[in-house]
Amino acid sequence: MSKPKTVVPLHEPEFAGNEWKYVKSCLDTGWVSSGGAFVTRFERETAARLGAREAVAVVNGTAGLHLALRAAGVGPGDEVLVPSITFIATANAAAYQGAVPRFVDSEPYSLGMDPVKLEAWLEKNTRLAGKRRVERKSGRRVAACVPVHVFGHPARIVELAAICARYGIALIEDAAESLGSTYRGRACGSFGLAGCLSFNGNKTITTGGGGMVVSSNAAFAKRVRHLSTQAKKDAAVYLHDEVGYNYRLPNINAALGCAQLEGLDHALARKRRTAERYRDGLAGANGVSLVWEPAGARSNFWLNTARCDTPARAKRLQKRLNDAGYEARPLWTPCHRQPMFEKLSAGSLDTADALWRTCFNVPSSAALPGRAVDEIVRLLRRS
Ligand SMILES: *Cc1c(COP(=O)(O)O)cnc(C)c1O
Repeated sequence: MSKPKTVVPLHEPEFAGNEWKYVKSCLDTGWVSSGGAFVTRFERETAARLGAREAVAVVNGTAGLHLALRAAGVGPGDEVLVPSITFIATANAAAYQGAVPRFVDSEPYSLGMDPVKLEAWLEKNTRLAGKRRVERKSGRRVAACVPVHVFGHPARIVELAAICARYGIALIEDAAESLGSTYRGRACGSFGLAGCLSFNGNKTITTGGGGMVVSSNAAFAKRVRHLSTQAKKDAAVYLHDEVGYNYRLPNINAALGCAQLEGLDHALARKRRTAERYRDGLAGANGVSLVWEPAGARSNFWLNTARCDTPARAKRLQKRLNDAGYEARPLWTPCHRQPMFEKLSAGSLDTADALWRTCFNVPSSAALPGRAVDEIVRLLRRS
């Protein structure tokens, strides 16, 4: 039997609203590049959506993380705490600043950074040196902590924020995957000094490529904006007061973003129905279940995740789905297993390794038909 040609991908963008109209207006008016009304509107609406004061639109989520860390004062020789279970961008952003990422274990339930393990590591391995929190052994400053809301499921961000406050560490949320997710009623991305969103093509909403740094600290947001535009002090005479970046989001991308935001609630409602259908379909299944939102949290269900009892079952089920034309993908190789970041752990990473070996993502687009979910569930339930 030959393989079926149609592959149902993990996540597909959808352009069912005003996307054509808004992009066309950029072309018609010539406002395609930096500056323009859609950038301002996209920033205002995203900030409002997260309940934050400010938002700065940037070229992608990675650039947003980089700028947020730089504006938070992270520099060469500092350490930045990140979960090992995340997309590589979280750790790379720290490395761009010459800082060392250190990897914290994850919780089995939320898939996010484990607050208990974070605090235990900080207590045992760091001390105060004046106002600086430094690692005992290396003497390096622990400058920031960047939890991730993995696949849209909120991490225990209130607990993580309290720990960061107690230890004097800047909290930057990697909210790249969690637009529309909330924890105790508050938007993911609004708990720290800054939250960083991504609008890459595979995310819940897309601008082609794009990102946003959201913050309620006006001075911080101003600095991020400044750094994103080549630290331009005076445009008329090309005067720049430090080394900045060309990280501003073009207006044509922001036009897509404005249209996509209009469709966000509809997308979230359908993604929740899909997740419920997976969950209910897998109820009582042998050795496989759906990762669900933690108590008190609402996930945007960006990517649904199947959790298996053994690595062997996870491998077998992924192969079965892929053979049937449904894309199934393992979690990211944990950061502490990436060659450039090996051996940079903050404590044991047993849960991260276990999650990596037993969990995988299944198709989760907002427009995924219910019958596709039913077929995937049927394949997963077959022993
Ligand atoms: C997508 C993503 C990023 C990076 O966003 P880009 O827009 O692709 O640069 C960062 N962190 C996480 C967790 C992501 O999923």
